[in-house]
Amino acid sequence: MTTTNPVDVVLAEPRGFCAGVDRAIEIVERAIRRFGAPIYVRHEIVHNTYVVADLKAKGAVFIEDLADVPPGATLVFSAHGVSRAVRDDAEARGFSIFDATCPLVTKVHVEVAKLAKQGYEFIMIGHKGHPEVEGTMGQLDAGIHLVEDVEDVEHVQLSGDKLAVVTQTTLSVDDAAEILAAVKRRFPHVKEPKQQDICYATQNRQDAVKVLAPQVDVLIVVGSLTSSNSNRLRELAQRLGTPAHMIDSADDLRPEWLEGRARVGLTAGASAPELLVQQVIERLRSFGAVAVRKMSGVEETIRFPLPLGLGDKSMEGVA
Ligand code: SF4
Repeated sequence: MTTTNPVDVVLAEPRGFCAGVDRAIEIVERAIRRFGAPIYVRHEIVHNTYVVADLKAKGAVFIEDLADVPPGATLVFSAHGVSRAVRDDAEARGFSIFDATCPLVTKVHVEVAKLAKQGYEFIMIGHKGHPEVEGTMGQLDAGIHLVEDVEDVEHVQLSGDKLAVVTQTTLSVDDAAEILAAVKRRFPHVKEPKQQDICYATQNRQDAVKVLAPQVDVLIVVGSLTSSNSNRLRELAQRLGTPAHMIDSADDLRPEWLEGRARVGLTAGASAPELLVQQVIERLRSFGAVAVRKMSGVEETIRFPLPLGLGDKSMEGVA
């Protein structure tokens, strides 16, 4: 089926894989190559249907419950990180463990543990039930309060004077700023992180959508429904008045979304592979797209080292 109008496609820059996702996938692939299948992975390594299916085909087994991992197996923690209880349980069961937690999530864990020792309790801004939030809150047994919106801030009951705030790394930058402002109004003494916890990749992809959305008639976001940062990109475009749709693959693209739209923006969440973006471009061409161009945007050069035992020596110590 073709649309009735010629369509120009504008690609967001940057889009797609971030350094944490790249590293997490590489850890699973290297573990399979080095130790052989199966390699067990706690939770989806990153929230992307294609990536998970691809790794399953290569020999990864995704589990939620450590009781499903046989003794002596190799286990990888997903990029979202795990609670102390999960880590302790995995160690007690004697698995050979590789930690694919994104170093930017680990940074938040380290900050929480350090400040807790100094007597702080915490407000965590994040989405209930997201594995990253469970992992970060699970660094402590108590004293960490989850707030999902401004209203939640009003219900926080502190037990001491020292309060710090941390956030999930993949939030809406604007929502997080609004909630943080509410936290600071209610608790003016709150300690903020030296560097914001929302990661560079989330910030850059949202910044790109802020520039791109007003220039296009519709925005397509490649990303799985479970992907927090992809959902935030779709919501952001919609708030800016641009219709936006999230798709897991090119097959999900609906021609009626393009009817009467001359310019289509295309971006991808941090866990969505570029291969899927290219397949979407091909499908857009089959619908009548005549030109594809990239917007100008920041270039990302960040890479994270692999864990010892899997790493490329040239990358050891690179942060
Ligand atoms: Fe790390 Fe950010 Fe990527 Fe999550 S989105 S894996 S925090 S770089």
